[in-house]
Amino acid sequence: MPGFLDDNALGAEEPLPAFFWTGDTDLACLRDALLQTLELGYAHHIQRLMVLGLFALLLGVRPRAIHEWFLAVYVDAVEWVELPNVLGMSQYADGGRMVSKPYAASGKYIQRMSNHCAGCRFRPGEATGPRACPYTTLYWDFLARHETRFARHPRTALQWSYLGRKPPEELAAIRRQAVELRAALAAGSRPEHGSKR
Ligand code: SF4
Repeated sequence: MPGFLDDNALGAEEPLPAFFWTGDTDLACLRDALLQTLELGYAHHIQRLMVLGLFALLLGVRPRAIHEWFLAVYVDAVEWVELPNVLGMSQYADGGRMVSKPYAASGKYIQRMSNHCAGCRFRPGEATGPRACPYTTLYWDFLARHETRFARHPRTALQWSYLGRKPPEELAAIRRQAVELRAALAAGSRPEHGSKR
């Protein structure tokens, strides 16, 4: 698919965290999906979209890097199906040609839809501090980073309106923690190494 492969509408440039190739992470939901994937070459649609793809989207992983990972690890990955699903649906790298809004959610969504959070060292409702769920920290940071694009979009305005209710000092602390988390992950550390307070 000429052109599609290099789409990067959200300007995502982070490297894929090293633990995607090992499953060595403290994020319980992500670890479960990664270990299953690495062992079986299979994960169901929601694990792919709302755990693995979601983390890459919120972190801001370069779309081509997460596409190449999906293509490498899944036994059913065929590029003409996998590429539009990962770059379009999961990463919004095509700028909305395939879906009308990004699939962005916080750790609270994963808590509602699974039983992972009960056994995780992180807290899905917390966005800052040592127990903050990285999904939740990165979710609010994602909303802030892409406010201009989505705050007045008819499909996303409601979701983005919650950003305006965050006190500025709270949002600033979340964004600082997101910066630390990205730096730790880019350096190959575990997520908690970037969130000690
Ligand atoms: S607290 Fe966050 S990282 Fe841990 S299982 Fe829940 S959503 Fe995943």
